Amino acid sequence: MCGIVGYIGTKKAVPVLIKGLLSLEYRGYDSSGICVLENNSLEVVKDKGRVKNLEENPILNTLNGNIGIAHTRWATHGIPSKENAHPHLDNSKTFAVVHNGIIENYTDLRNFLENKGYTLISQTDTEVIPNLISYYYSLENDILKAIAKTIKDLKGSYAIEVISPLLKDKIIVARKDSPLVIGIGNGENFIASDIPAVLNYTNKFYFLDDLEISVISKNSIEFYDIDLNKVEKDVKDIEWDCASSEKNGFEDYMLKEIFEQPTSIMETIGSRLKPNEKCYFDDLKIDLKDINRIYIVACGTAMHAGIAAKYAFEHFCKIPVEVDMASEFRYRNPLIDKHTLCIFISQSGETADTIAALKLAKSLGSKTLAVVNVIGSSITRVADYTIYTHAGPEIAVASTKAYTAQVVLLNILAVYFAEILGYSSKELEDFKMEILELPDKVKIILEDTSKIQEFAKEVYSQKDMFFIGRNTDYAVSMEASLKLKEISYIHSEAYAAGELKHGPIALIENGTTVIGIATNPNLVEKTISNLEEVITRGANVMIVTNQELPNINSKLNIEVPKCNPMLSPILSVIPLQLFSYYIAKNKGLDVDKPRNLAKSVTVE
Ligand code: GLU
Repeated sequence: MCGIVGYIGTKKAVPVLIKGLLSLEYRGYDSSGICVLENNSLEVVKDKGRVKNLEENPILNTLNGNIGIAHTRWATHGIPSKENAHPHLDNSKTFAVVHNGIIENYTDLRNFLENKGYTLISQTDTEVIPNLISYYYSLENDILKAIAKTIKDLKGSYAIEVISPLLKDKIIVARKDSPLVIGIGNGENFIASDIPAVLNYTNKFYFLDDLEISVISKNSIEFYDIDLNKVEKDVKDIEWDCASSEKNGFEDYMLKEIFEQPTSIMETIGSRLKPNEKCYFDDLKIDLKDINRIYIVACGTAMHAGIAAKYAFEHFCKIPVEVDMASEFRYRNPLIDKHTLCIFISQSGETADTIAALKLAKSLGSKTLAVVNVIGSSITRVADYTIYTHAGPEIAVASTKAYTAQVVLLNILAVYFAEILGYSSKELEDFKMEILELPDKVKIILEDTSKIQEFAKEVYSQKDMFFIGRNTDYAVSMEASLKLKEISYIHSEAYAAGELKHGPIALIENGTTVIGIATNPNLVEKTISNLEEVITRGANVMIVTNQELPNINSKLNIEVPKCNPMLSPILSVIPLQLFSYYIAKNKGLDVDKPRNLAKSVTVE
């Protein structure tokens, strides 16, 4: 995920582009860059870090061109660095491209280009795009055709902008699965990943659809399908104010991020998992021979992701898994050696306890693998192997989309290990298909949130709540309970449902809210019995389930789509994220910045 902006008109392009980038920084902020068509040549300025660094570069003041493209990056391939920052040029420096998305087949395309004599200098997936355009241009002598051919070759997601001295007074853009809007001005036109970037200049927009190409000059905008047939599109009037549009119309980043989960899960699956093919991680060459134990080590929500995924590793790979808090693991002399694989999970890749635990595991000779969202972060520089969730930047302090991306990725990793270890089975194949269905199932859950909102309104003033479940439903109880504490400041506890009568049931009184999660067909009756026990003692019960329930006097049952119990945390957590969110909103709290909490905990 990143922000792209483009301008063509009579103004100086640089100030418009910088302003646009600043308002898109929430989409990516590890590096940024601009390319302006200056006296018919491409002038590129890039820098590492926030857009402010780019803005302060004095060269920008010398650029007067009226056509330009710009990018604020959230790295997916290649560390955040000046070299990897966009725009990227082809070898002949004729085409400049900015790109939002992931080119899944970039290794094949890179090999293809290298065989044709091209040299790629960055580590990004993006750099194949300007070079492919250049290659096809050398065959076609027509830029539009060259771009259409190029995008036919791309697998994955992209929104791209292309400028070139050969195009003179035009910018060409195209997209698939990444957003791109075109703002219509008077004698000028604007391009952006998202409306807020250019809302100061216009409220009239075209929304480019998947596999469409647009050729934009200052006085005209034309649309084509991928076969270069002309397409007609309608102009949309946007009535947003600038503040709400930064969050894409959502009131808070947390809500926006909850709703981004179909996409973040899809991006995380990427090309790693495909129907009827073996699972593939192009960023992972791990030797599993002699591994007889796995530790999953993390903090907070990331640790809950580990707990949710432990079941798949044990079930499919037959390797015992222990999940531990990094802050405990590092001080307890864990029994690890070269036969142990330690997996460390962190959204930011900067969590101090997790880094310390990783260093300890390494010093004891274990293999170490990091599961991280932020490319090039500290953890990735220490671990033997790194795999990335592709959740995009998470701004809200309380993690939502990073959690589901972590659980998805760990489950894919379990499949990958099982296949390497030779444990293929029909069950494993079905499991893979179920992972691929997750984005659509999450979409279904997000279609109607009204019941959750109503229940949150009823119970938001309570002091204590309890979450119970068994197996992976217990794992998700822990995460749901943490989310509630983090943003609503309500005391809550998660218990394995069977454990309730060994103490905690003493806390249940008239009106206490208990949330039951019951998605495992083999355990649903047991969990329902435990919920009956609390209802008998006066509890107010909400149940998240995908099973036929026996008659039970619950206040609300939230249905989620059926799925393999090992994957159910990815679905059942969604209504529970929303539940915490709406409770906090009812209490009038700042959900994006809860008190006492920081997004990335870089102290012990
Ligand atoms: N995949 C590209 C990169 O890593 C673009 C990432 C983005 O969307 O920011 O450079």
